[in-house]
Amino acid sequence: MSTPRPHHLADMTTEQAAEAVTASPVVLLPAGAFEQHGPALPLATDLVRAEAVTERVAERLSGRAVIGPSLPVGVSPHHVAFPGTLSLSVNTFRTVLREYLDGLYRHGWRRVLVITGHGGNNASLTTLAQDLLADLPDLQFAWSPLTTVAADVVARMPKSEVHGHSGEAETAQMLHLAPDMVHTDRFVPGTRDLTELDALSRLARRPGHPTLQVRYDRLSANGVLGDPARATAEDGAAIVDRVVAEVTDFVEEWLKA
Ligand SMILES: [Zn+2]
Repeated sequence: MSTPRPHHLADMTTEQAAEAVTASPVVLLPAGAFEQHGPALPLATDLVRAEAVTERVAERLSGRAVIGPSLPVGVSPHHVAFPGTLSLSVNTFRTVLREYLDGLYRHGWRRVLVITGHGGNNASLTTLAQDLLADLPDLQFAWSPLTTVAADVVARMPKSEVHGHSGEAETAQMLHLAPDMVHTDRFVPGTRDLTELDALSRLARRPGHPTLQVRYDRLSANGVLGDPARATAEDGAAIVDRVVAEVTDFVEEWLKA
């Protein structure tokens, strides 16, 4: 890195950081995962997507938000059977994020938004948000997933009966955001039909509640749900544009609230 990136707290001096508290009252924190994404996508897929969306949101907000440190390793116990996957426990992930927040709070920030590319982080974010209501009532803590924000765009895409992790929608985002990191010559379908799943896994994939979690090595032999070969960069752009627009709109309203 040779030139300071705009909006990045890490690239500011301590004096610039002190000024940013007033000029840029929102801190954006990208959260990812370090986990298997099948034969064609890198372990950092969720972080790559979260950081790219965060970057675009910060650009749209033109200086009213700063980007804080990423959370590059997430909560991924359901993927640990696959080589390369690292996972933080729920408590460790929460503690690391909580200590980021304590530091930002100490220096004067009162609005923090986590943008997570990994659904396994959601439960920790929800419980931390609840604790913060009691512990730091004047800190406004928000978080957002990526793909589910663009559910209507994903609904219109061609995809398999079983789809999700490293499948059509996620691969599409990577083809748009980081095409050089996608091994298009290694696209292999994962689990595509409910009939490929055992009874317990079908129960885990049943929509609604009750909720049951199973490990991904039970859901899919290669770690993929869906067929990455059906993904296009155009669909990826539509998903990303939708997420960026929704999150930016939220922050605009937040700054007026
Ligand atoms: Zn992912």
